[in-house]
Amino acid sequence: MKQTSFYPGPSTIHPSIPSLVKDAYDKGILSVNHRSSDFMELSFASKSQLRSQLNVPDDYDIIFISSATEAWEILPQSLTSKTSQHFFNGAFGLKWAYMTKNLGVEVIKSPFDVNEYLPVDQINSLADWLCVTACETSNGTMVDLNVLQELFSRRLPHQLIAVDATSALGGVILNFQLADYWFASCQKCLGLPAGLGLLIVSPAAIERGRLLGERSHYNSFLNLVEHARKEQTHYTPNVLNIYLLWRTLAAGPPIVVTDRRLRDRIVDLNSIIESNGTLDWLVSNASLRSPTVITLKTSDPMELKERALSQKMILGNGYGAWKENTVRIANFPAMGDIQFQIFMEWMSNL
Ligand SMILES: *Cc1c(COP(=O)(O)O)cnc(C)c1O
Repeated sequence: MKQTSFYPGPSTIHPSIPSLVKDAYDKGILSVNHRSSDFMELSFASKSQLRSQLNVPDDYDIIFISSATEAWEILPQSLTSKTSQHFFNGAFGLKWAYMTKNLGVEVIKSPFDVNEYLPVDQINSLADWLCVTACETSNGTMVDLNVLQELFSRRLPHQLIAVDATSALGGVILNFQLADYWFASCQKCLGLPAGLGLLIVSPAAIERGRLLGERSHYNSFLNLVEHARKEQTHYTPNVLNIYLLWRTLAAGPPIVVTDRRLRDRIVDLNSIIESNGTLDWLVSNASLRSPTVITLKTSDPMELKERALSQKMILGNGYGAWKENTVRIANFPAMGDIQFQIFMEWMSNL
């Protein structure tokens, strides 16, 4: 039997991928020119599925990029005039702040503890952008929609909000109206092979791009937007993944159903963890936990991973500061309910 990867990205992909890859090949889509009408139709179809399945507002633009890391770079490069404020409690949020600073933007760091809410009262009036990581993949925390709503209400008129939704988009319900610059890679909750990123931006973000007029990079924001509006890209894109995104979204349920399914699994898992004396959540406040990345404290992560591996289950290492005392388990939609059930049975017998 094949191993099941619970690693939080790259992770288990949709089981339909092999046959969809063959479909893409058979249809000739993998050989089309990215300026052709065949590609433009595919781009439109894929984005339309995103809009309908994930409730992306009609006036937001969807842009294909290569990764979340690229989106980290585009924001300071093309959309920030001077200052960016970063709220973070883990390694991905910190890396984003670090990259922004390296690109010459002034960075205000607003770290917070994994067991605390994002400090919405610390908005700095100097910041052009308020940057938030929706699900922090390194520690399994989540900034939920109520907190984001609070940040949205408190921001000053000149401030825009950016959200790294990499371990959230496709797994949990998002309210896109609450931010201006959303992005994700497709190898987490979207259950695809790595190599495609999505950037979803508000009219205000586009206005900011026009105001700054930055055009000196291959991925300058305005260049990306202008091509995306023609259903094209100016570089040669990952056509296979755009195709797979379209087909998997079209075959899947709306986001409300997926969100419920992931949260129900967490509730079941929680009762197992509570009755097991040796494992505990890293994050004690349940309302701060991400439904998509389960992070558990254990005195011996190595031993736990080896035991899982002997049952053909790959658990994720801890990350950054939590490397030595946690394991991470992806609860992404592409993971079948049966595989998750097998994992839970294994957990309940530990
Ligand atoms: C995985 C991840 C990234 C980086 O994604 P890449 O595809 O490697 O660019 C960024 N942010 C978060 C929250 C992630 O989980």
